[in-house]
Amino acid sequence: MSHVTRIELGGIVVDVLCDAVGDHPRALPDAFPGAPALGWDAVRNAFPATVGVEGRWRFGTHVLLVRTPDARVLVDAGVGPAGTAAADWLHVTGTLDADLAALEVRPEDIDVLVLTHLHQDHIGWLVEPGTRTPRFARARHVLSEPEWTSVQDAMPAHLRDTFEPVQAADLLDVGGDLVDGLALLPLPGHTPGHSGVLIEGEERRLLFGGDAFNHPLQIDDPGVPSLADADREQAVATRHEVLALARGQALTVLGAHLPGALWPERADAAVG
Ligand SMILES: [Zn+2]
Repeated sequence: MSHVTRIELGGIVVDVLCDAVGDHPRALPDAFPGAPALGWDAVRNAFPATVGVEGRWRFGTHVLLVRTPDARVLVDAGVGPAGTAAADWLHVTGTLDADLAALEVRPEDIDVLVLTHLHQDHIGWLVEPGTRTPRFARARHVLSEPEWTSVQDAMPAHLRDTFEPVQAADLLDVGGDLVDGLALLPLPGHTPGHSGVLIEGEERRLLFGGDAFNHPLQIDDPGVPSLADADREQAVATRHEVLALARGQALTVLGAHLPGALWPERADAAVG
């Protein structure tokens, strides 16, 4: 089982599960095509866990298990098992099934599954690769309306293969509410309807920022884009917004691919 970090928010317990760690096909300066103020050597030295073979961007893909007094929620669905688009792309397979089992959570225990966006490394566990059976058979599958709309005109095959069975099982709830204590927060730019998930416990608040930030260097340099940002200008504005929000409030911020918390601790913990 991979490393699991538990965050207690007061009445709500969040487990951060690392589904998989892999190396992006591109080197860091190509995956983040900008010029960090410190220069790339300093970035590599500051965040060694993000440097993979041949200088490629190494990243973990994280999923949250959120347990509130009356619901179990998964935030994002990772790379997935062998046979998914993301597993083929990164040459790794996810461990979410084993990690949930170790926490004594069965797929059918999940009430709501929320997706920050529809990139392949965030939807991996939704259906079984062979049978295309929805894995989280009872869960409402929630994502933002603009995100769903943005893929309708040219839906890639792997998305169609994933969402047809989810829709056929009547599990898709586009734009639906989450559960008490959790809400979607629009953080557009990485994709048109990209969203964070705000989680409010009795004592602490947490923002899962999805892919708004993909590398800790973007805290000091929010203007350095991620290659995958669909609208770079909007993504930069969103990063500034998240940082302002985090500074103004007692808010822990996590990212789907960041090693450790983005804010307030800028940890360069071991990936995973
Ligand atoms: Zn991602």
